[in-house]
Amino acid sequence: MNNSRPILVAFFLVVLVFVISCSKNTLTGKSQLSFIPEKDMQSMSYTQYKDFLKTHEVLSPQKDANAAMVQKVGARITKAIERYFKNTNNSGALTGYNWEYNLVNDKLVNAWCMPGGKIVVYTGILPITQNENALAIVLGHEVSHALLQHGNQRMSQSMIQQVGGVALSVALSTKPSETQDMFLRAYGVGSAVGFTLPFSRKHELEADQYGLIWTVMAGYDPTEALAFWDRMEKSSNGNTPPEFLSTHPSDVKRKEKIKSFLPEAMKYKGK
Ligand SMILES: [Zn+2]
Repeated sequence: MNNSRPILVAFFLVVLVFVISCSKNTLTGKSQLSFIPEKDMQSMSYTQYKDFLKTHEVLSPQKDANAAMVQKVGARITKAIERYFKNTNNSGALTGYNWEYNLVNDKLVNAWCMPGGKIVVYTGILPITQNENALAIVLGHEVSHALLQHGNQRMSQSMIQQVGGVALSVALSTKPSETQDMFLRAYGVGSAVGFTLPFSRKHELEADQYGLIWTVMAGYDPTEALAFWDRMEKSSNGNTPPEFLSTHPSDVKRKEKIKSFLPEAMKYKGK
């Protein structure tokens, strides 16, 4: 009897699962572990986003200057992204995107972007952004997490661990509240579900890198990122760390990395 056969079969099964679970990110061209189709994530996002806005006080851009600023910066970031994807013959990757930027009246220091370009900024982060330019840094960073499908990867990992590699629709029908909680944690809406899930250092740096490109293309100064992270770190001194820092951990090397990304980002000025 051939003893190596079961091992070979197991090996091929592992490879098969890996190939099925991996998809290529259209922005970076790198393989990533995500088995949930982006359109399924987007359809869940639209429901979750609507629910979130229904249960929070959304500030009107007609009545509130900060809400108007969020819309203005958001529109410029969106245009920059659409130009970048067009210039790289990758506009198809934005299919299903339906960009929306809202400011909610909530003292939490937070901001996030769900699949399909559904963004929320909390008023609590405005004392730290302090200006339109730093808001562009935050929005550029957040939309990058969605475009780079970091949330999809986090959701895929949680699903494998908690409900197995089933389809999103199956998870939603068999374990609706658990699936919804996994989704909210994967996108940094942590406080809504009790605990947060921090983005990895790799994901943070990737979101910084691309975020700076959109910031420059939108006509803002990318060096403001350094001042923004300084203010974010200071804001946690002696207090409970802000929600944003629990999902977007900062480390000592972050500013060095941001500095090293600046020359590349500056090449996109006027593009
Ligand atoms: Zn982040």
